Amino acid sequence: MTFNNRTALVTGAGRGIGKAIAETLAKNGVNVICVSKSAESCGAVAAAITAAGGKAKALAVDVSDGPAVVKAAEELLKEYGKIDILVNNAGITRDGLIARMSEDDWNAVIQTNLTSAFHWSKAIGWPMCRARYGRIVNIASVVGIVGNAGQANYAAAKGGMIAFTKAIAKEFAKRGVTANVVAPGFIKTDMTSVLGEEVQKAATGMIPMQRFGEPSDIAAAVAFLCSEEANYITGQVFTVDGGMAM
Ligand code: NAP
Repeated sequence: MTFNNRTALVTGAGRGIGKAIAETLAKNGVNVICVSKSAESCGAVAAAITAAGGKAKALAVDVSDGPAVVKAAEELLKEYGKIDILVNNAGITRDGLIARMSEDDWNAVIQTNLTSAFHWSKAIGWPMCRARYGRIVNIASVVGIVGNAGQANYAAAKGGMIAFTKAIAKEFAKRGVTANVVAPGFIKTDMTSVLGEEVQKAATGMIPMQRFGEPSDIAAAVAFLCSEEANYITGQVFTVDGGMAM
């Protein structure tokens, strides 16, 4: 994969899938801005990348805070001149059946998982268009395609992210900016480690490969979509799920 010394911003890069994405891009020579909610987690990832000879910077931003995202993007664009790759990965769950789901649970998930992608893609995507180059990869979920009981908020956010990505893919296509979705199935991270043993067993039973994926499985697909070689791919949804949602 070719990356030509690009600069990337990865949200949710402090742990799990985002950490693997940041590390994979950095191994390929990309200068990575690692964003997470806590300074500790993105700081540790950026420090490890730098210690391994890569280029990285940590930035603590609450992606559910629109004005904070806009301010961070403006400052980063001043510092770096341009950002070539944007990976909207930060996400949370607030699960519960809709009968018991509070409006706070709904809003928190929509703000963090979907509205954040709007703010980052607007603030960074438009400068990408002016530069006539860019790669946006949004991390959704198979739940955004097939739905899931107990995750109405999460499914709405992820399904919204898929439609949002297709819309900006159409807006940005003639300016050399691609936008694609990677939709993971069950991946071994903190997000899934909280699921009970029975739930994990039932989930594994639905996966043709009979196992949860690794964060690196998602990172590999994301890195390809961010590479120069993925030049003619836009508006697509790549499920990386061991065959679960086929
Ligand atoms: P994770 O291990 O829980 O890590 C989430 C990351 O997002 C953390 O670095 C966290 O920051 C960051 N984050 C959360 N809220 C944030 C906020 N308001 N502002 C800034 N950063 C925030 O999650 P994961 O499993 O790697 O999931 C990554 C993405 O993949 C999510 O969008 C998730 O929905 C999606 N996904 C995951 C799975 C799965 O099975 N794991 C399946 C499908 C889709 P801190 O480190 O500071 O806490």
